[in-house]
Amino acid sequence: MYDLIIIGGGPAGVSACVYAARKKLNTLVIASEIGGQSTVSAGIENWIGTPIISGFDLAKNFEKHIKLYENKGLDIKKETVTEIKDENDFITIKTKNSSYKSKALMYCAGSSRRKIQAQGAKDFEHKGITYCATCDGPVFTDMDIAVVGGGNAGFETALQLAEYTKSVTLLNRSPSYNADQITVKKAFENKKISGILNAEITEFFGDGLLEGLKYKDDTKKEHTLKINGAFIEIGLIPETNLIKNLAETNQMGKIIVDPKTQKTSNNRIWSAGDCTDGLYHQNNIASGDAVKALENLFISIKKEDI
Ligand SMILES: Cc1cc2nc3c(=O)[nH]c(=O)nc-3n(C[C@H](O)[C@H](O)[C@H](O)COP(=O)(O)OP(=O)(O)OC[C@H]3O[C@@H](n4cnc5c(N)ncnc54)[C@H](O)[C@@H]3O)c2cc1C
Repeated sequence: MYDLIIIGGGPAGVSACVYAARKKLNTLVIASEIGGQSTVSAGIENWIGTPIISGFDLAKNFEKHIKLYENKGLDIKKETVTEIKDENDFITIKTKNSSYKSKALMYCAGSSRRKIQAQGAKDFEHKGITYCATCDGPVFTDMDIAVVGGGNAGFETALQLAEYTKSVTLLNRSPSYNADQITVKKAFENKKISGILNAEITEFFGDGLLEGLKYKDDTKKEHTLKINGAFIEIGLIPETNLIKNLAETNQMGKIIVDPKTQKTSNNRIWSAGDCTDGLYHQNNIASGDAVKALENLFISIKKEDI
């Protein structure tokens, strides 16, 4: 029986590991891979204390850091969790070949970006199509770009990119925007930003790198838009299927946590990072929230009130 099982090897899971090990909790981390979503990023420029690092190197550092504690209170299993059960007095975690038990669970399974479905979309991923303005935006300085999505994330991305790109065209599939009115107004006051409603993207094209996209309007007429970059902001899919029957989730499937403690509605489960209902999704935030959770769950374990 472990004191704690951590699921996830992204910044939230890894931060939880370091704090759990240093607090001498008997801990197991289970992760399909160590690194998390930003492993694919060419250059991360906002991991505090490190001016620039590739996602690959950040993942290597994460692994190096947790390996310092391996077999000194921390067990590391690169496996995929398939089932989680609350047995009242403990939690059972199953992977394909094994089963583990713990008093507490730290759930950090993150999320994945909802991918756009259109001809060429897969071919131009990381060759013009990107899912992270904060990470990849500056590459498109002085270029014409599109943002796909009409929610707050889409508009905030457009405003951020307009600071340095030549033009930003916001394409939204539906006839109106879901974003807050104030944000919509602010965006369209910016001369660089324009919007197209009822735009159903049918194709991305280019010769090696993205050169444009095609979309159909509500009359099914096809149009072409020449762009160098397309930022897709059509939502995140939280990885919460395994846990949604054990801890409360919101209408978007994100785990509801107490922001002071990161505790879920389940007395034995804490969570941090992109799978939670926290408002912002960044590496530093995932890491900090996991630390907060560890401070809190450590007290619960020591007081034996779980
Ligand atoms: C392309 C890209 C670039 C980004 N660049 C930046 C950036 O420059 N700066 C920044 O601050 N943020 C960036 N982000 C956002 C950042 O990556 C996320 O906010 C952060 O990774 C969230 O961390 P997390 O630990 O919550 O989850 P994730 O990073 O999603 O990690 C989830 C972990 O859980 C594991 N897991 C999931 N399900 C299971 C399962 N069933 N069994 C076992 N393991 C499981 C995964 O293998 C993974 O290890 C970027 C995101 C993307 C997609």
